[in-house]
Amino acid sequence: MIDVAIIGGGPAALSAGLNCRQRNASVCIFGRSIDSSLLYAAEEVDNYLGMPNMTGEDMTNAFFKHAMKNGVEFKECRVSQIIPMGEYFLINAENEFHEAKAIILCTGINKSHTITGERDLLGKGVSYCATCDGMLYRGKKVVVVAENPEGEEEANFLADVCESVTYIPKYKEVSHLKENIIVKTGKVKAVLEADGKVSGIQLDEEVIPCDGAFFAKNSTPPDSLVVGLSIEGNAIVVNRKMETNIPMVYAAGDCTGVPYQIAKAVGEGLIAALSAVAEVKK
Ligand SMILES: Cc1cc2nc3c(=O)[nH]c(=O)nc-3n(C[C@H](O)[C@H](O)[C@H](O)COP(=O)(O)OP(=O)(O)OC[C@H]3O[C@@H](n4cnc5c(N)ncnc54)[C@H](O)[C@@H]3O)c2cc1C
Repeated sequence: MIDVAIIGGGPAALSAGLNCRQRNASVCIFGRSIDSSLLYAAEEVDNYLGMPNMTGEDMTNAFFKHAMKNGVEFKECRVSQIIPMGEYFLINAENEFHEAKAIILCTGINKSHTITGERDLLGKGVSYCATCDGMLYRGKKVVVVAENPEGEEEANFLADVCESVTYIPKYKEVSHLKENIIVKTGKVKAVLEADGKVSGIQLDEEVIPCDGAFFAKNSTPPDSLVVGLSIEGNAIVVNRKMETNIPMVYAAGDCTGVPYQIAKAVGEGLIAALSAVAEVKK
């Protein structure tokens, strides 16, 4: 089991990783490719102290190199769920499970759009992980709404256990679906509820009855990564130690709100790392 798992891959995550290593904690960053950090897109950065006139790409590479040189592990993946297990956390990274004593969320600006009913019915029929929750829908009807082809793998898994699977892709070419999956297109308007549970999906003017609604998203809202996480507006609520409302879960960088700036991300990453390592070593 590692001491600290960091979810992200931008300046906040790399700073948190470096500072965990400098306090002798074992650490792994679970992040999508480093070019998915917002910083990578910056043509020129001229307000980061001591590194004038840098491109975002060069700065990202410099941060990455520094963190790796200090023994930070980087696992390129998308994390879909973090499950509290009492004394530790289980991290679902593309269906590989990892254990960590503390978590630092550095997921950047929350770009994910939620539809009516989605947040309220999380855990009551709405899920972001078929392999975690699929068995609960054995012999039942489910709908998979997918922003990317990773949803096809989720739908194929569900097709083996569910009575029916309807797949609604939000991208162009669907290529690897099993034959018993029904494909529909259109605007997904709402997750419908009856008796406190999911009862269907509103697709344009059509209602698709179902017991479970699975979402495969490009960007996972932080409060669906860690259920019960306190969010205000679009930002994770933290105190000055970068602690969230969930013990041993910290957050840093753009995901904690404005200003969206590298120096803030790097500074918060450092504070989150020091706070997390102090608790882990207690
Ligand atoms: C064009 C542009 C120019 C900018 N110029 C400046 C500037 O001049 N000065 C300045 O200070 N700031 C600038 N910024 C802002 C700066 O880039 C951000 O404030 C900074 O990148 C925030 O770092 P972060 O680590 O919090 O988030 P990000 O850099 O956004 O990194 C978040 C990372 O988390 C990953 N991630 C998210 N969810 C998951 C998941 N579930 N599993 C795995 N990985 C996940 C993302 O893929 C991404 O790699 C600019 C931004 C842009 C877009």
